[in-house]
Amino acid sequence: MGPSMTDLFNPSDEHLALRRMVRDFAEKEVEPQAAEYDRTEKFNHALFRSLGDLGLLGITVEERFGGSGMDPTAAVIVHEELSAVDPGFCLAYLAHSMLFVNNLQQNGSDDQRKKYLPGACSGDLIGGMCMSEPGAGTDVLGMSTTATRDGDDFVLNGAKMWITNGAIDDTTLGDIFLVYARTGQTRADVSLFLVEKGTPGFSLGQRIKDKLGMRASPTAELVFEDCRIPASNLVGTEGHATLHMMRNLEIERLTLAGMSLGIARRSIEIMNNYATERKSFGHALRDFGQIQRHIAESYCEYMAGRSYVYHTANQLKLGSSGNRVDSDGVKLYCAAMAKTVADRAIQVLGGYGYVGEYTVERLWRDAKLLEIGGGTNEAHQKNITRDLSKRLTLK
Ligand SMILES: Cc1cc2nc3c(=O)[nH]c(=O)nc-3n(C[C@H](O)[C@H](O)[C@H](O)COP(=O)(O)OP(=O)(O)OC[C@H]3O[C@@H](n4cnc5c(N)ncnc54)[C@H](O)[C@@H]3O)c2cc1C
Repeated sequence: MGPSMTDLFNPSDEHLALRRMVRDFAEKEVEPQAAEYDRTEKFNHALFRSLGDLGLLGITVEERFGGSGMDPTAAVIVHEELSAVDPGFCLAYLAHSMLFVNNLQQNGSDDQRKKYLPGACSGDLIGGMCMSEPGAGTDVLGMSTTATRDGDDFVLNGAKMWITNGAIDDTTLGDIFLVYARTGQTRADVSLFLVEKGTPGFSLGQRIKDKLGMRASPTAELVFEDCRIPASNLVGTEGHATLHMMRNLEIERLTLAGMSLGIARRSIEIMNNYATERKSFGHALRDFGQIQRHIAESYCEYMAGRSYVYHTANQLKLGSSGNRVDSDGVKLYCAAMAKTVADRAIQVLGGYGYVGEYTVERLWRDAKLLEIGGGTNEAHQKNITRDLSKRLTLK
């Protein structure tokens, strides 16, 4: 047997095989379509389904419900590799496989898992998660969507904003959503519900167009008007969904940080190659100190972020919420790092960096979302500082 190839970033042979498989798929199938779907702001439904064939849509789901039964590190690997070629497509994958699928796996009942997870893992169903509203984002517990008990049903009223996979084209809703709604008077009195496309009173509001980046992932407003759903669609206990929300935000932030890693790695590869090939004043660009600074600092910051992300991923236990400082921390650090690295890549490529053909301008546009979605930088700063106030001495 040869030496083991495993390391912090691929802690087992299974992780290594997963990374190779996803990288191969990403380069052959995802990369060729990325620029076109960005430009046209379309969601590539057929490509998304092929993620189901590869077992990636239910990466953290138990095998008995159609999943691959892997851990948070595996989820980060998939996000890093897909995002290195197409962050927009990867965001649609994240909303489905982490925000809907993993959320239901962790927080749903066996009946709910049996009903929805096999279809969601195969790609027959496209899912999303509805937390944000037109009037409440960072202040998520300030949500105003309500769910009122009426006999054996709940009746939902309100609107959800910015929902990834909310619509898969201009007129078609995604298939199935986890929706947070207020079920009582206090701010924390929030419950989680499954709502299917086709439920009367559930409709598509505006399809959000002309985003700066992440244009290959569809974003929409969803509207609930006297939308009646059976009480069996309540996920977990009534009034206790803030716990589900916190649990799921940890893996969401971790995998968003994994996406940042993909953007940074690709940007470094592009600027590194370009700096070798491009000549100026009779020298390769990489001979100039200012260019060396762009490349070297980018590499070190990427490796620092990468180490932090995989260290945090290797410690995260599915279904628990225990390390909010670092799930906020990896996202706060890596989002800014990816944006800075993509920016440096544009600088190194000069005018060529500014046009689509050279990819880095798309990566830079996509990187910006990671400072907003899944929690803004300011929200992470607030959370980290609050949590650190409880442990003034660090281990
Ligand atoms: C492309 C995209 C996809 C998304 N996908 C989803 C999805 O699938 N599901 C979902 O539920 N949501 C989704 N979101 C919503 C996203 O999570 C919110 O945009 C984000 O939480 C910020 O909320 P907001 O936009 O309402 O901004 P606001 O909360 O209004 O914030 C505006 C600014 O004020 C700052 N701010 C707010 N409160 C404070 C404070 N206390 N201290 C300091 N600064 C503060 C913010 O940091 C920000 O800079 C998505 C958003 C985008 C853009």
